Amino acid sequence: MKLHEYQSKELLTRYGVAVPKGEVADNPADALRIAESLGGKVVVKAQVLMGGRGKAGGVKLFDNAQEASTFTGELIGKRLVSIQNPAGMVVEKVLVGELIDIAEEYYLSVLTDRAAGKNVIMISKEGGMEIEEVAEEHPDAIVRLHVDPAWGVADFEIREAVAAAKIPAPAQRQMVGMIKSLVKAYEESDADLIEINPCAWTPDGKLIAADAKVSIDENALYRHRGYDDTKDDSAEDPIEAEASRRGIAYVRLGGEIGIIGNGAGLVMCSLDEVNAAGGKPANFCDVGGGASAERVTQCVELILMDENVKGLLINIFGGITRGDLVAQGILAAFDAIDIKIPVVVRLDGTAAEEGLELLKGSDKLVGAATMQEAAQKIVQLAY
Ligand code: GDP
Ligand code: MN
Repeated sequence: MKLHEYQSKELLTRYGVAVPKGEVADNPADALRIAESLGGKVVVKAQVLMGGRGKAGGVKLFDNAQEASTFTGELIGKRLVSIQNPAGMVVEKVLVGELIDIAEEYYLSVLTDRAAGKNVIMISKEGGMEIEEVAEEHPDAIVRLHVDPAWGVADFEIREAVAAAKIPAPAQRQMVGMIKSLVKAYEESDADLIEINPCAWTPDGKLIAADAKVSIDENALYRHRGYDDTKDDSAEDPIEAEASRRGIAYVRLGGEIGIIGNGAGLVMCSLDEVNAAGGKPANFCDVGGGASAERVTQCVELILMDENVKGLLINIFGGITRGDLVAQGILAAFDAIDIKIPVVVRLDGTAAEEGLELLKGSDKLVGAATMQEAAQKIVQLAY
């Protein structure tokens, strides 16, 4: 789970990483107060979980508090769009930070190198721009250093790596210290990414994390309370955000056929069958095991929130999930929602016959005996 920049900076501060002073604001009045307390020279930064905020117009430097406050007013509620995130994200908070003088911008990160089975530290003198660009244009400008899971990493190895990255001598000692802090923070907070870009070198000789990105391994979140507020707005798509609030696995794909299935495998097969039948999946929901009528209704609602959906395929194989309960859910959804698009249902497995019997009563539904038949029927009816 990605943390916001301000949360990332708070976390890193606890490990002794130098960051610019600053506070979050969600309105111009607070931004004014914070900017004044910082002496008026500030940077206002949109707190959205996407890269390239600078280019997207979400980062701006000011030399007086009033303008910083006005910009905050313009930014809050605005949708920022970047190359990395074409759907964009709405700004809810900004970070008002002291403006630091930057002489040079470096890049530092710690992440997991799955191929090596080790964490890896990445260091580059070419910070500021996206690291993918650096990797493409000057691959030699990135130095990688693995952290042994048993022994960790020795100070001399870090010193050598920093020197190999051609970081100027005066900055080297501070960078070694910062890297040690990042590695410790990475391990102790179960992070799967820590990235400092830019890692700023100031004219008066200080190394400061001007930007910070921390992502925590979601499977370890139970060990790290207090980041819950990030979760909801971390979904980039409003429908995905709503699904996440309801605790339902939903993915948007962009075609026209909505798909509801139980279990990831069956959902994937359904996507393939719809493609094979000449259709394009719009989105899918996994109702999960033991799906209740209520849950099915919720899934149907989510699927139909996407206005591009022209047909709905429901593919259920009853195991723990009982076919008759799913059928009740589908009927309840039809009662609750005015469904104007064709719906094809394939029901098999536990209590499928009872389920199909229940569905016979509805004239809006088309039954199908197999997944292939269901996919072909929905494509015929929808397009
Ligand atoms: P990102 O575009 O989402 O990665 O946002 P960043 O926080 O990295 O900001 C983008 C750029 O704004 C940085 O590369 C810096 O050049 C500039 N910037 C950000 N904060 C400061 C600051 O305090 N002082 C100065 N001079 N530039 C800053
Ligand atoms: Mn950055």
